[in-house]
Amino acid sequence: MEKLSPGLYIVATPIGNLGDLSPRAADILSRADLVAAEDTRVTAVLLRHIGTKRPMTPYHDHNADHVRPQLIARMATEAVALVSDAGTPLISDPGYKLVRDARAAGHAVVTIPGPCAAVAALTLAGLPTDRFLFAGFLPSKAKARAETIAELGAIRATLILYESGPRLGATLAALADQLGDREAAVTREITKKFEEAVTGTLPVLAARYADAPPRGEIVIVVAPPGDAPPASEEDGDAALAEALTRLPAAKAAGEVAKRLGLDRKALYARALEMKQN
Ligand code: SAM
Repeated sequence: MEKLSPGLYIVATPIGNLGDLSPRAADILSRADLVAAEDTRVTAVLLRHIGTKRPMTPYHDHNADHVRPQLIARMATEAVALVSDAGTPLISDPGYKLVRDARAAGHAVVTIPGPCAAVAALTLAGLPTDRFLFAGFLPSKAKARAETIAELGAIRATLILYESGPRLGATLAALADQLGDREAAVTREITKKFEEAVTGTLPVLAARYADAPPRGEIVIVVAPPGDAPPASEEDGDAALAEALTRLPAAKAAGEVAKRLGLDRKALYARALEMKQN
C-alpha cells in the first residue's frame, strides 16, 4: 500500500448507514499513520467495518488544547486523519482549531467530504435551499434560547438546527412562540432504519411533540420568514407624518414610497393635505 503524504486529512464518516462511507474515506483511513478520533471506541467499529486497524488517539473538546500541538508536530512527517463520531468533522464537532494550526504550521490540509446531518436534513425538508443558515444546537437555557431565536428569526434564510429528543418539544414551542406559523420539518434518524421527516407549521409540530419526545437523533429545519404584509394606509400616514417633521412634502413622499412600497404621487397628495390640516 502506497504511503500517504504527510498532513491533515479531514474524513467525513456515516451518520447512521455504514454504506455511506465513501471509498476514498475508507482508503484514507486504512492508510493514515494516525487517526484522531472523537471517541476511539466508536471509530474502532468503523475501522473494523472496513477491515483495518490503525493507531488512534482521542481528540475531543476536553483534551483538544493539550493534544493539538502533538498532532500538529506529527503532521510534519505523518498522515493524520481526523474523524468525529458521525458525519463531517468540524460541524458541531471539534476540529477547526486543528485545521487552523495545521495550516499555520505549513502542513497540507485535505478534506474527504461526505455525510453531514445538516445538509441531509435540508434535502429531506422540502423547504427553500437557495439560502440557509446552520445554527447548531440552540442554547438550553430559556432566556439565551429566546435571544438566539430572535436573532435567527430576522434572517431571510432557511434555518437548520440540531436537537435531541428530550429537548425537542420545548425547542419547537419556543420556535412557534417567536416565529409564528412558519413551515418546518422535524427530520429524525437520517439514513437509519427509522428515518423520517415530519412536516407542518411550527405550532402543529410543537403540539405533536409536546408530550411525545421522539427517540433518536434530530434535525429541525425552519422555513425563512414570509414576505412582510403590504403596508396599510395607516402605516403610510404614520410614516409620512414622521418624515414631514424632517423633510419637505416631495422628499417625504419619496422616502416613504421607497421604504413601504406605496405610490409616491398618492403619498405626495396626502402629504400636502396633512400639511394644510
Ligand atoms: N458532525 C455531525 C454532522 O456532520 O452532522 C454532527 C455532530 S453533532 C455533535 C450531533 C447531532 O447531529 C445530533 O444531535 C443530531 O442533531 C444530528 N445528527 C447526527 N446524525 C443524525 C442522523 N442520523 N439523523 C438526524 N440527526 C442527526
